Amino acid sequence: MSDWEKLIPRPPSRFLRVKCSDCGNEQIIFSHVTNVVHCNVCGEVIAEPTGGKAAIKGEIVAVLE
Ligand SMILES: [Zn+2]
Repeated sequence: MSDWEKLIPRPPSRFLRVKCSDCGNEQIIFSHVTNVVHCNVCGEVIAEPTGGKAAIKGEIVAVLE
């Protein structure tokens, strides 16, 4: 492991199962999204990028490691 890797720990990134607040559809998204994620069923925004962890708009029903 290099010094650089010791100094900068990798951010914990996970997959989240998120329920759409509009239609109740559940889908799995990455915890650090770089693009706005829309519900596959109704098109509602369920996650937005913030530069780090995604801003989840729906309900997180499970965290998958
Ligand atoms: Zn939906």
